[in-house]
Parts: sequence; structure tokens; C-alpha cells
Amino acid sequence: MPPGSASSRDSRRAPHLRGAVVFCPRRALVRALARLAPFALCVWLVLVAAAPAALASAARPAPRPGSAPAVATIGGVAYTEARPWFARLGYQAAYDAEKKQLTLSAPAGRIVIEADAREISFHGMRYFLGDPAALHKGAIHLSTIDLERFLGPILRPGRLSPRPLRTIVLDPGHGGQDSGTRNVAQKLDEKIFALDVAKRVERLLLATDPSWRVLLTRSDDRFVTLADRARFANEAGADLFVSIHFNAVANNPAVRGTETYILTPRHQRSTSATLRSPDDDTEQAGNAHDHWSAVLGAQMHRHLLAKLKTQDRGFKRARFAVLRLVDCPAVLVEAGYLSNDAEARRIADPAFRGDIAEAIVAGIQSYAAALATAGR
Ligand SMILES: [Zn+2]
Repeated sequence: MPPGSASSRDSRRAPHLRGAVVFCPRRALVRALARLAPFALCVWLVLVAAAPAALASAARPAPRPGSAPAVATIGGVAYTEARPWFARLGYQAAYDAEKKQLTLSAPAGRIVIEADAREISFHGMRYFLGDPAALHKGAIHLSTIDLERFLGPILRPGRLSPRPLRTIVLDPGHGGQDSGTRNVAQKLDEKIFALDVAKRVERLLLATDPSWRVLLTRSDDRFVTLADRARFANEAGADLFVSIHFNAVANNPAVRGTETYILTPRHQRSTSATLRSPDDDTEQAGNAHDHWSAVLGAQMHRHLLAKLKTQDRGFKRARFAVLRLVDCPAVLVEAGYLSNDAEARRIADPAFRGDIAEAIVAGIQSYAAALATAGR
């Protein structure tokens, strides 16, 4: 269950405003434009973009590699034309005018973007953008924040500023009187499994690289406030924060699968929000690390899905308390649904929890590998 999703969404808790400009030289302009954004007036439909077998050729001529992508302000939000932006990264584009769908292909994988949707298919995975793709003058555009603080870092982490990775803080959700979510019939508590997975990750990390300093926000069944978890990480000088949870949904036991969350960038709404909120414009401590959090979350989501073979519930953004308040790249994993009986039985199996731990460690290793390319 996500922590701090409602009651603890107090943006005033993050007093220090920080702005590490590492990837987006036009950020000041983006912010200025984004501040003018009116609240969204409509609910954007989330469409699963599936690549068609045959795509119609785009009417527009292919842009020359290196030509600057067109920018536009759409609904008060700064947007950039997607096709030339991705062309610079080696993606070939095909546009299906009937479906309003842009397919970008490269050896690394295929990205499918559909007009008016916040969900995209990214190398076969479900990614959720902060702003919906927009069809403008016959071309698909993505918000500049989504390109520069989310997709850009994921696709080219080498352009980011280097940062260290020594202290890793693992955060097993809930504890003590806070059981987290429950499968009542099977008598399973989220807090037990979150701690079990965290301890498995700790052991694996130390075996992988003894130079890593691995700390847990709790190592037994005790209650720790969300603010104290973040404070612990910050006082420890954490370079990386991984919060471990299991999910539940009321009244729909069929829902199952894995979700990965990072902090919502400033001036964007969280994945679960259909409308903009004044909170969206508050800079949180964690926003200084948006770029590396995007890299971390992408690697984590990829490894979790590959290892667990669970349903892909998406790589999403939220302003959960721990993600807002920690002063380092951070990710929150919802590994599976305890409210789904079949998935709950898997979660209760120590072998499956071992797989979750291995996937989290693989995600951290891939993140470390991306760090090693930084500044190139
Ligand atoms: Zn939880």
C-alpha cells in the first residue's frame, strides 16, 4: 500500500528548495511557461498503445538528424515535437494518422505514443507521463518536462552529472501497529513481507559489493513514521533510497501486478491525479534528483517485470511522503497485490520473495552501471 498518499501529502514539510540543473538547459523557460498552466479541464483517456502490424507512413518529411525539435505551448504547458527529439537519439519514426499514434523504433526497443494519452508503451513496458501527448499541427508532441526530466535521463543517463553510490537505504513499508495492507483470508500482512524482502536485498547487496553501506529504516517489527524514515536516510547521507511495499485494492480482487513509483516532477500531476493541484507547483526535496530517480525507477521496473513475470501495472509518479522528503534518488516498489488471492500465495512463498529481492538488486546494479557512464 502506498505510504503518505493522502494524509501526509503536506507539501510544507519540504522546506528546502533545491534545483540541480543537470539535463535541461531550457528548464527556466519551461518552468516559466508551466507556471502559466491553467488547471486541466478534462480527464485524459489512458489508452494502451499497441503497435499496429503495419503503420502508415507519416505525411511529414523525416527531420534531419540534429535539427532542433519544434517547441510549442499547448494548454499553457511547454511541449516539444517528439519525432525530431527522438531522431537525435537514433529512433526511426512512423505515424499512424488514423490512430493518432507515433511509433519510434531503435535497436534498444520501440516506443509507442498516442495523442491525448499519458500512458506510453516504452520498450514493451507501461510508462506514465506527467502530461498527455498532444497532437499539434499534425505532429505528436510531448511535454518538455516529460522529455527532459523523465525520458531523456532514462535514454541517455551519460549526459547527467555524476553522483556517488555508497550508502543505500532500504525502507520496508509499515511496521508495528501499522500492518499495511492485508489478505485477511490468508492472514498475510504487508509489513512482514516488506521487511523480509528488505533483509534479503540487504544480504544480496552486501554480497554483491562489500563497499556499499546498506541501512534499513527498520530491521524489526516496529512503527516508524514516514518523516522519520526520510530523516533517517538524509542523516545517513543516503545516495539511494528504495521503499518496499505490497499493494491492495478494495472491491476488485482480480487486480494484480507490479508498480514502480518515483516522485512526480514539479509542475506535473501524479499518475493517479486527473486534475492539476496547487501542490503540483511546490518543489520537494526529492525533486532535486528527478533525473537519477527516473533512471533508477526505469531500471527497477524493468528488472522486476523480467524476473517476476507479473502483470505490468506501470512505471508511475506519485508524491508519497518518503519520495518527497528524501534528498537522494528514490524509488518505491509495489511488488504485488496481497488483495489478489493468487498473487498473495506467491508473495507468501519465500522463493518468490527471493526473486523480488534479486530483481531489486539487479535494478540497483543497472542503476550503478548507468552512474558509471555519467558525464560522458
Ligand atoms: Zn505499503
